[in-house]
Amino acid sequence: MNLAAPILKGIGRFAADLLVPPVCLACQVRLDSRDALCGACWMSISFIRRPLCDRLGIPLPFGTGDGPLVSAAASADPPFWGRARAVAIYETGGVMSRLIHAMKYADRHDARRLFARLLADAGHELLPDCDVIVPVPLTYRRLVRRQFNQSALLARELSLLSGIPWASHLLVKARDTPPQVSLSGNARRENLRGAFEVPEGARPAVADRRILLLDDVVTTGATAEAATRALLRGGARAVDVLTLARVTTPTHALP
Ligand SMILES: [Zn+2]
Repeated sequence: MNLAAPILKGIGRFAADLLVPPVCLACQVRLDSRDALCGACWMSISFIRRPLCDRLGIPLPFGTGDGPLVSAAASADPPFWGRARAVAIYETGGVMSRLIHAMKYADRHDARRLFARLLADAGHELLPDCDVIVPVPLTYRRLVRRQFNQSALLARELSLLSGIPWASHLLVKARDTPPQVSLSGNARRENLRGAFEVPEGARPAVADRRILLLDDVVTTGATAEAATRALLRGGARAVDVLTLARVTTPTHALP
């Protein structure tokens, strides 16, 4: 066994810590380890924990023992995807939303390893059942303007951590849509109708595959729904959805 490599790696990390000491990704307080949050920032995140709706991934007020729970909202209006999971509730101005915003708009990617660990944890039931991780795409024009797709960044990190392959070419956003932020639930759905598609050449790679669709934030679920429908139309056997944060209220609200 080569003992030099781990020792050198340890020395390298020690030197790096002296030069750029590890800090909390959100508030920059000094920490012992990298890619982490301090206790206060961690505690401020509203992590989604059981009991939760197996289909929508929203927290439920109480559980009923064994077996997956399905909320009244999911029974009344079943989603096209199989199961959705999110790491945390999206809270404007909260630690999670600030970290996501920094990744998306400020070109700060330092939270990506933390995000991958959180996604692997929130998606631990979904990952063993998926063949490939597919990020929600941006249009080519948006991609050129922003330089990178934050969902693809997350997909790559989750792939590195889980060993499950990821592919960004299986689903494309064919046309630009007005920013979703300003629209209500139904308008968002209308806005996204036919926006996503599986390119003809990608059909063999999508056919009969179980896909884990990855996005940073789910607001009304309209984007995830449109992307899921496109993948199913393209021949996918099943689609599950995994995100960093979700807004619980609008279309798929608690009963
Ligand atoms: Zn902190």
